[in-house]
Amino acid sequence: MVSDRQKGAGMPVLVMKFGGTSVANPDRIRRAAKRVGVEVAKGYDVIVIVSAMSGKTNELVGWVEETSPMFDAREYDAIVSSGEAVTAGLMALTLQEMDVPARSWQGWQVPLKTTSAHASARIEEIPTKNITQKFAEGMRVAVVAGFQGISPEGRITTLGRGGSDTTAVAFAAAFDAERCDIYTDVDGVYTADPRICAKARKLDRIAFEEMLEMASLGAKVLQTRSVELAMRYRVRLRVLSSFEEQSDAAGTLVCAEEDIMESNIVAGVAHSRDEAKLTLLSVADRPGIAATIFTSLSEGGVNVDMIVQNISEEGRTDMTFSCPTSEVPRAEAALAKTHEAGELNFAELVADKDVAKVSVVGIGMRSQSGVAAKMFKVLCDEGINIKVITTSEIKISVLIDRKYMELAVQSLHDAFDLDKVA
Ligand code: ASP
Ligand code: MG
Repeated sequence: MVSDRQKGAGMPVLVMKFGGTSVANPDRIRRAAKRVGVEVAKGYDVIVIVSAMSGKTNELVGWVEETSPMFDAREYDAIVSSGEAVTAGLMALTLQEMDVPARSWQGWQVPLKTTSAHASARIEEIPTKNITQKFAEGMRVAVVAGFQGISPEGRITTLGRGGSDTTAVAFAAAFDAERCDIYTDVDGVYTADPRICAKARKLDRIAFEEMLEMASLGAKVLQTRSVELAMRYRVRLRVLSSFEEQSDAAGTLVCAEEDIMESNIVAGVAHSRDEAKLTLLSVADRPGIAATIFTSLSEGGVNVDMIVQNISEEGRTDMTFSCPTSEVPRAEAALAKTHEAGELNFAELVADKDVAKVSVVGIGMRSQSGVAAKMFKVLCDEGINIKVITTSEIKISVLIDRKYMELAVQSLHDAFDLDKVA
């Protein structure tokens, strides 16, 4: 993404993004607009990014699928982007009613330029000229429809589900905003999902890298791409609830590692419920075999996560990988096709659909050893068998039987003292 904005131009800019539940009806929009008014009164020029009203995008997607199962993605985008068009206009009207100078912008009007990958387009450029000029003329709030943009061919695009978060961060980067506040229905990022771990604690701060792991592991607070973008452009991102009293310390700040003074070695325990573990038994152990298997899966549209190759015996080996449970039929079909084409030989494909992934995440792991040992000991003490293990510099993930998922999250949360501040 390229930005053309001069640093220091005009008033400081704040980006405020409101999710679907925060704009679910005219009354909620009024409450959100009041918060915007507070920031305007502090002297900010505000860019408000809105989602569609909650449930709206699902409804629109449903209509598309009902009309045309093999739909044209360009028309899908034209239809599903309309939810945000409505809330942007309503938000601008509400602000005007409060005597705040505001107007709405559709993605194409900015124009927010994207690739032409319909339904999952990537942002390429946000020219700041038009909005900056309006700010200079006295407009105080630019309300922008999230989630949507325009392709090089001049067609409307959308950024993938949850894409308004990414719109918000991209605007914050392009306008060199002081901060990007994401208003949602939870009051921040937690050490674990409070619905399965009663002792989960809200974090005051979390590092970009940790949030990226947590987001991609299924902590669905932010779209993963928005966190990637925030990390790349060093956008200070705050996640907070639009249903609670506003204060400058509210929510969770997602920020650079250097901005976190004290932290636990482990920041949080994440989980992902619907995982499946697949094993190809007895494949030939020769160069190119992994490439064949994973090309086949990728062409079949399967999102592979963990991969483990076992030691081989007499030139044969077993290959294990994981993917979302819903993608097992696709994985089976893709591998069967490659098998029938004579490109891949295996004895059997075994699928275990009742597994879950549990992970501990924390930048402290880089400098502290023993986290893995402790994690495995905790699971062992609970009698939980580990099926697959993968690690990164700041994360350890295990696949376990799904029925033990809650127990694993709770015991790890206890063992790493996550209910206590470091
Ligand atoms: N309304 C879109 C969705 O539900 C985009 C968003 O809200 O972030 O995916
Ligand atoms: Mg969202």
